[in-house]
Amino acid sequence: MVAPRLKSRTLRRIKVRLPGSKTVTHYKRRKPSIAKCRKCKANLKGIPHPLQSIFKNLPKTAKRPQRPFGGELCTKCMRAHFVEKARKSE
Ligand SMILES: [Zn+2]
Repeated sequence: MVAPRLKSRTLRRIKVRLPGSKTVTHYKRRKPSIAKCRKCKANLKGIPHPLQSIFKNLPKTAKRPQRPFGGELCTKCMRAHFVEKARKSE
């Protein structure tokens, strides 16, 4: 019988196969959701989403793409933003 605190769905369940071909359930923290584009809500690429305790120890360059609005806008929205900005300035 599993411990009562592990019956909650707060933790995710991972089935792990042991060397003796026995399968056991491991209980782990749930991962944070994938970062989304501010404009179109598309999933952003190049941004890891491990547990917060691991993410905060990553270097800044590993946390978001190295371009304007990296980690804020997707590439399509970023390009559209600059095209729009250039048109307005004319
Ligand atoms: Zn977008």
